[in-house]
Amino acid sequence: CGIVGYVADPAARSRPVDHSALDVVLAGLRRMEYRGYDSAGVALVGDGRLQSEKRAGKLTNLLNALEQNPLEPANTGIGHTRWATHGGPNDANAHPHLADGGKLAVIHNGIIENFAQLKQGLLDDGVEFSSETDTEVAAHLIAAEFRNTGDLTEAMRLVSAKLEGAYTLLAVHADRPGVVVGARRNSPLVIGLGEGENFLGSDVAAFIEYTKEAVEIGQDQIVTITPEKVEIIDKDGAAVQGKAYHVDWDA
Ligand code: GLU
Repeated sequence: CGIVGYVADPAARSRPVDHSALDVVLAGLRRMEYRGYDSAGVALVGDGRLQSEKRAGKLTNLLNALEQNPLEPANTGIGHTRWATHGGPNDANAHPHLADGGKLAVIHNGIIENFAQLKQGLLDDGVEFSSETDTEVAAHLIAAEFRNTGDLTEAMRLVSAKLEGAYTLLAVHADRPGVVVGARRNSPLVIGLGEGENFLGSDVAAFIEYTKEAVEIGQDQIVTITPEKVEIIDKDGAAVQGKAYHVDWDA
């Protein structure tokens, strides 16, 4: 129900960034709590590895889990609040969903209408599932395309083309620190521009306390953010200029 993505370069030339990715992601989730949700989770990428934590229930449950098992600080992160549509609201069905041996994490808002058919294809290939969600299908498909192409953006583009329904998707990979890739169809996703840091949110509330400079992402477009750049492409891979705007409300 809420999605946030963040990348920072602590040694950015433009302006040194001292936000921890986990703090930014949790602050974004807190600001989107008003939308309602039944589970929450985060994933961080840094030092060649991916760490994640997720819990059914309120953000407090996630915060308690993070207190019990603290994550190492990192500069790349994604966070999710879930409103269950496929699979009950339990820890296993909470997002992120992992693939590629725990190196890839995916979060999703919306419904993948053709997930059953896609899941059968993956099961036939011997892929093991750890949840009942439609989302996990996207995680395994992106992992497979990332193995084929070595390119997280291209993997997201190829998989988006196979999905039917409504989705905002974000993906991060342990082998691609400083990169968050997103896609959207019939579901919102917007970029927040920073200096030495960039943001993605399903709602500008996700990043409004850090920046009011936003960029729209169109239907069926794919976005890649790094600490210094944001790039949008269309479903055919052609570069697209997003529409920039100033968010006109007080945080
Ligand atoms: N369909 C997904 C699920 O049930 C995502 C739900 C959402 O939008 O939070 O896990």
